[in-house]
Amino acid sequence: MPALLLVFVLLATAAVVTAGIVLTLRAFKEEKVPAETTRPRAAVNHAHDMATTATLKHFFDGRTCYVCHRAIPVVHLGDPRPGLFNPRTHAALEWNEIPSEDLAATLEAHVPVCASCLVAESFRQKFPDLVVDRPAHSH
Ligand SMILES: [Zn+2]
Repeated sequence: MPALLLVFVLLATAAVVTAGIVLTLRAFKEEKVPAETTRPRAAVNHAHDMATTATLKHFFDGRTCYVCHRAIPVVHLGDPRPGLFNPRTHAALEWNEIPSEDLAATLEAHVPVCASCLVAESFRQKFPDLVVDRPAHSH
């Protein structure tokens, strides 16, 4: 009975293929689990009201970074944000640390710093012992 044997082989092949597909799908599902646990970037910021945010965005619009002299990119939600730098005290203010009160005075006393330079300045401010400044000019 060669015909019956052929049917049997076909069925066996179909069963193996189906099992393979099911196992692959299961593995695919398990692979997706860790991706769901990675939380989205924290873009929520309740520190400033809309007026303050608008003022800050306007302040940084078209400005160049005080440290690296590169243009500060337009502030988008979720992007690294620029901050303020006080040239006299060398204190750096991160976006979220900029106080809503006396905003105009704060902006007047500070210069804009891009996000990447802000990281460096904040680091220097918090860990001054770890940052070594090499003199640019020899005396
Ligand atoms: Zn910069």
